[in-house]
Amino acid sequence: MTAGARRPTVAVVGGGIAGLAAAWELARQPEPVQVVVVEAADHLGGKIRTATVGGDRVPVGPDAFVARRPEAVELCRQIELREELVAPASGGAFVWSRGRLRALPVGLALGVPTRWLALARSGILGPLGAARAGADLLAGPARAARPAADDRPDMAVGAIVSRHLGRQVTERLADPLIGGIHAGPVTAMSAAAVFAPLLAAEHIGGSLMRALRPVSPAPTSPPAPTSPPAMFLAPRSGMTALVDALTDRLRAEGVAIRCSTPVRTLAVRPGGWQVLVDDDHLEVDAVVVATPASAAAGLLAAAAPEAGRRLGEVPSASVAVVTLQLPEEALAEAGGTGFLVPASQGLLTTGCTWLSRKWPHLASSGRALVRVSCGRAGDERAGRLSDEQLVRQVRAELAAVAGVAAEPTAWLVTRWPQAFPQYQVGHLQRVEAVEQAAAAAAAPLAVAGAALHGVGIPACIGSGRRAARAVLDRLAQPMATAPNRQP
Ligand SMILES: Cc1cc2nc3c(=O)[nH]c(=O)nc-3n(C[C@H](O)[C@H](O)[C@H](O)COP(=O)(O)OP(=O)(O)OC[C@H]3O[C@@H](n4cnc5c(N)ncnc54)[C@H](O)[C@@H]3O)c2cc1C
Repeated sequence: MTAGARRPTVAVVGGGIAGLAAAWELARQPEPVQVVVVEAADHLGGKIRTATVGGDRVPVGPDAFVARRPEAVELCRQIELREELVAPASGGAFVWSRGRLRALPVGLALGVPTRWLALARSGILGPLGAARAGADLLAGPARAARPAADDRPDMAVGAIVSRHLGRQVTERLADPLIGGIHAGPVTAMSAAAVFAPLLAAEHIGGSLMRALRPVSPAPTSPPAPTSPPAMFLAPRSGMTALVDALTDRLRAEGVAIRCSTPVRTLAVRPGGWQVLVDDDHLEVDAVVVATPASAAAGLLAAAAPEAGRRLGEVPSASVAVVTLQLPEEALAEAGGTGFLVPASQGLLTTGCTWLSRKWPHLASSGRALVRVSCGRAGDERAGRLSDEQLVRQVRAELAAVAGVAAEPTAWLVTRWPQAFPQYQVGHLQRVEAVEQAAAAAAAPLAVAGAALHGVGIPACIGSGRRAARAVLDRLAQPMATAPNRQP
């Protein structure tokens, strides 16, 4: 890209947060790039969505992002949204175990206990389960040398936790807490992809609880790793403010945005790509594909078949979110900011947030707001129920688990089909193969989004920005030296 040269055009396919972050990275280059975002839906933001329930505006996708990763906070700073960010109210989270809601013990590293006494006192495990977990502390010393990350064969999170701490810890803590982030079972989940310190601890041997302690909160910290105030942030007016502010800034930078324009396929043309939409096509120099994996697999089938094939191997899970608006006093007896339900309990509910307690400013009507998540990989029951049946079942479970039985003043069911990519054992190798195949395509191409390096908003932002830099690098190379061109 030299002064006076034609400005290259980059199409970003998919206007979720990963695609918008890619467009932002492209738009901020000192050497100008023409950017067009092509989105299938009539709105931007993808999974980031707000709906109205009984007059209250509520998030029906993500309600916050993790603050300890830098990407989302940094983006908010760049688009002048940093001052708007607020932390949720703290109050601790609970897990449904042995017939009661029980407070999560202090000292959890993601979802793995590191403090045996706190674990034993929590009542989450039975006496045998607690004794089995305690045996971990009797393990011999860890090896002095840590194997390099590349020398650690991947394993399932569940296999590691069960081997060190027993099945009860896997089923009642690791599965709802770590599996819950991905709406899938930890028995199949890649430790390398979702919790690398766990895999490192496994490979150095010794006590798992001791090995994970440095990354766990001190025992005097507030109890729930999912809810301390400093860990999560969201714009005060809700997560869609992030999408709106980013979209405004993109437009101001001259980025073209085409909604209601599903891309049908990508085709290589001399020196770039044809992006085929319904009755039209765009001719561009480079493409960032930021759609969910199944859509990306189809788009890439002809243009970068190996990348498409490997992306198509990433399965995904469907979930449903039930939002209930209840009379104000309905949550008077409810503890903390919500609870999780282990899959082994057989309920439809996987997690419940007392939304109006976690984010008091959301309940503008003064009523209570409750959000219940249902469904995960391997549990398609919610998808087979009508909205009315789902609400009836969720309400019965809410009454049985938390004693919250009030008649809703309004409710909403939001379905999220195939929304959560499953990072199965070997995920990182699969992603590497996808990225290498995309880099070797006949014209500049990169992929981004939740199917790759993390499902959380910060990870998706990071993935979008990296994909943008990858196509910029490719555009900067003389055509003849681009790596391993496919015919
Ligand atoms: C219910 C729920 C709760 C969540 N809670 C949290 C949370 O609290 N915190 C957190 O950090 N994360 C959370 N997540 C995860 C996070 O929201 C997502 O992983 C993230 O938003 C995905 O962003 P993305 O850009 O990769 O994909 P998406 O948001 O799925 O965006 C992809 C876009 O591509 C478009 N598209 C698809 N096919 C085509 C095509 N052919 N042509 C053009 N466009 C196309 C889609 O319409 C969509 O807009 C949650 C997710 C869900 C579903």
